Amino acid sequence: MKDFAAPMARLIDELKRLPGIGQKSAQRIAFHLERAPREDAERLAASLIDMKDKIRLCRVCNNLTELDPCEFCSDPSRDPSVVCVVETPYNALAIEKTREFHGLYHVLHGALSPLHGIGRQGDANRYGHPGRF
Ligand SMILES: [Zn+2]
Repeated sequence: MKDFAAPMARLIDELKRLPGIGQKSAQRIAFHLERAPREDAERLAASLIDMKDKIRLCRVCNNLTELDPCEFCSDPSRDPSVVCVVETPYNALAIEKTREFHGLYHVLHGALSPLHGIGRQGDANRYGHPGRF
């Protein structure tokens, strides 16, 4: 006998693919969604699709954005002579919350580690390893 009906098991399997979500959390979220009104599930599903359709990388700084260039790169009050290189868009957000930085960002979408063969995208030949991102 299976633990869950197939649609419930499929949702739990999908939720477990998310970072930080294990079996118990996935089950808890799945049961919560099962009890929630259909409109809540539709709103969640629509927000996922909307995010996938509209969020892209800024062509200037690589940050996640709906507008290209992003709000930082198109803000004339920011100082373009100062660029903060960050590992993830999350890091840029944390710096923004300090309200102390007024330059621009460059988002790597991963750590650089030349000693481990992880370079910028396109550095694969230089380091002899495929780029990680
Ligand atoms: Zn940008």
